[in-house]
Amino acid sequence: MTTDRNTIENLAAIRAKITKTAQNAGRNADSVTLVAISKTQPPEKIAEALKAGQRVFGENRVQEAQTHWADIKNSGIYPDLRLHLVGPLQTNKIRATLALFDMIETLDRPELAQALAAERTRTDTPLPPCLIQVNTGNEPQKHGIKPENLATFLDLCQGTYGLNIRGLMCVPPIDEPPALHFAFLAKLARRHNLPELSMGMSADYEKGILLGATFVRVGTALFGERTV
Ligand SMILES: *Cc1c(COP(=O)(O)O)cnc(C)c1O
Repeated sequence: MTTDRNTIENLAAIRAKITKTAQNAGRNADSVTLVAISKTQPPEKIAEALKAGQRVFGENRVQEAQTHWADIKNSGIYPDLRLHLVGPLQTNKIRATLALFDMIETLDRPELAQALAAERTRTDTPLPPCLIQVNTGNEPQKHGIKPENLATFLDLCQGTYGLNIRGLMCVPPIDEPPALHFAFLAKLARRHNLPELSMGMSADYEKGILLGATFVRVGTALFGERTV
């Protein structure tokens, strides 16, 4: 098995940047959580990040997340390990998702909210906290609630289904300045009294922090280029 010193060095550099950027924004560095996006990465790199103290990870596919994480989680070696789902969730994957993930960042449609509530009733087990994914750029191909439908969707999630909605998440259009979308998402969260904001990836997490991100989702800057 190879070890990857780069992962440890990258992690230290990213943590330092997060701290510095938070301080520049007049924020406590503790208010920003690094979500290490481990999709497609080899187990060696994940092991290095764990060894270096990283405890919050994100995956975008349920099945791959099981391969990466089920044994590690079940081992109980890392009781403070937290897994975030950052990719689209199909309703037929809800059971597997609830068995593994500690936060769903991609609640994006009424059907999913309803299915989550139904699963809670069936199992009589609390659901993990959720973020609503907002399609801030109104892109037709992209997942997420359209901004103009957010208030209604929030009512449905909180009022009708009693879900624990902690905040909002977005993936800005690739061809637009991300800061515009981060500022917009932050405004929506403030309007609805939601404390958490997941925004910013490898290329723009500092911008996210300056605009209020409480979660930044960093993959390639930490683990290197993905192979698929
Ligand atoms: C892959 C992914 C990331 C990480 O992207 P990088 O540019 O590699 O940091 C963040 N968020 C989501 C939703 C992703 O799918």
